[in-house]
Amino acid sequence: METQSPKGPHFIEQIIMDDLKNGVVSEIRTRFPPEPNGYLHIGHAKSICLNFGLAEQFGGTCNLRFDDTNPAKEETEYVESIKRDVEWLGFRWHALCFASDYFRQFYEWALELIRDGKAYVDDQSADEIRETRGTLTAPGKESPYRNRTVGENLDLFDRMKRGEFEDGFCVLRAKIDMAHPNLNMRDPVLYRILHRDHFRTGGNWCIYPMYDFAHGYEDAIEGVTHSICTLEFEDHRPLYEWFLENVSVPCRPRQFEFARLNLTYTVMSKRLLLTLVNEKIVNGWDDPRMPTISGIRRRGYTPSAIRRFCSEIGVSKSNSMVDIEFLQYVIREELNRDARRAMAVLDPVRVVIENYPEGKTEMLEAENNPEKQEDGSREIPFSREIYIERDDFMENPPKKFFRLSPGSEVRLKHAYLVTCTGVVKNDEGEIIELRCTYDPESRGGEAPDGRRVKGTLHWVSVPHAVKAEVRLYDNLFTLRDMSEMEEGKTFRDYLDPDSIRVLKNCFVEPGLASPEHLERFQFLRQGYFCADPGSEPGKPVFNRTVALKDTWGKMLRKEKAE
Ligand code: ATP
Ligand code: MG
Repeated sequence: METQSPKGPHFIEQIIMDDLKNGVVSEIRTRFPPEPNGYLHIGHAKSICLNFGLAEQFGGTCNLRFDDTNPAKEETEYVESIKRDVEWLGFRWHALCFASDYFRQFYEWALELIRDGKAYVDDQSADEIRETRGTLTAPGKESPYRNRTVGENLDLFDRMKRGEFEDGFCVLRAKIDMAHPNLNMRDPVLYRILHRDHFRTGGNWCIYPMYDFAHGYEDAIEGVTHSICTLEFEDHRPLYEWFLENVSVPCRPRQFEFARLNLTYTVMSKRLLLTLVNEKIVNGWDDPRMPTISGIRRRGYTPSAIRRFCSEIGVSKSNSMVDIEFLQYVIREELNRDARRAMAVLDPVRVVIENYPEGKTEMLEAENNPEKQEDGSREIPFSREIYIERDDFMENPPKKFFRLSPGSEVRLKHAYLVTCTGVVKNDEGEIIELRCTYDPESRGGEAPDGRRVKGTLHWVSVPHAVKAEVRLYDNLFTLRDMSEMEEGKTFRDYLDPDSIRVLKNCFVEPGLASPEHLERFQFLRQGYFCADPGSEPGKPVFNRTVALKDTWGKMLRKEKAE
């Protein structure tokens, strides 16, 4: 698997190499720790490739750990989707873990802090706690409950756990320093009361640990050596360390931060993605426009393309924005190499070849992939009536229009040269049919006299064509950097109404009548397509993964040339 970074070791690889060399650790252990409160997105893929990739690369292990400490938002459906996505990306976890399995241990460690005078029960409301926290320039204010005795705190915490108090009545806080320059260190909350069933522990608990308190302990329990998270947790690292220093943990993991992935024209917060799903702005988590792994999968991306993308964008310490065109470039390259070619007409107009015998069908040989000789060829039927793309014909063409127009000659891919002899219109003046003649000597597409014919069109034989639905996608949003929304506007103001176009009257060659689950094709001159899981035998539906146009590749080639 291509996990080695192409540009030499990145900073985390370097840290691990040093740690192994200096005997800081003898084997590395990492983890990927999603909260099961939504489906994974391409940003998570970066973290998955990093954590699992490092374990593979350095002969260590990586756990899949569900950080399920908030019963209000978590569900089994999300757990299952996350497992599916990680496996689909090609990774195998060492252990499957749940933070909720450690609730007992977290509780014991909270008691340890209380006994040592390092935690107290605070009766202030959430608002009061926020308001007394101070600012970057002003210290916070100590809670009037801060100096409760150990005995009092043990008693109150026990009563919190037994369910004597309502939600929000009090919390357990660490007793650190209300004047600490790092706001995260100003007596952070460890436990809150929440009378809510947890999807795994049911009604066993009515107090739940906070992320900062629990995360390092989860790592310690699992023997994680390198706990890798995104940059916004850099300011939480002192707290991560404080919690580990102040109780009897079995080992001391260390936290390292890297820059999260941001993509242009995309949002990547689970909360926003959930809103898109709940408000039916998209058709579910796996809508092919979604940046979710399940959406990207349905769109036709391959696991190897996503892994390659993650490896190419690299791992660094500064936040940046990656062009969505780069993701498209990576899949396009791969599909150009691997995808079977086929012909599909998305906006059909009928062509009658007047000098071709009526009722005759010829089987023509068509190569499956010019980039891969070993993929062989297939036979496609040709007959007197074919469909071509409506915009491959112009009645009054401009110069350099090398497609079909009255009197012009074009090549039908894999078939014959044809010349347009007429146009049939309906009463409204719309073109309903084209007339052509063909050169019987040009089978395969070359004229025997060697005359030059520039245009080559794709086509499908009318009597053999299979009707198909084709869905074309564009970015969901119109703003390049969605973190730069204008004041007073929401993501709703930037939705592209044309992000999906459903074409119901398309025709594909007969071999595509019943494609395999997620089978991928290049439709000649159209782009790369993937069979939608909703396809039925004889009624295929295709999603366009990416168009052929290769702006990114052009840019790269230009840069190289300069
Ligand atoms: P969101 O902010 O979208 O809700 P999250 O960070 O809360 O995401 P988690 O389930 O906690 O989601 O994430 C699991 C892991 O994936 C974390 O280690 C997190 O740092 C990492 N991760 C999340 N988003 C990105 C991203 N855009 N790029 C890289 N890593 C990410
Ligand atoms: Mg998170």
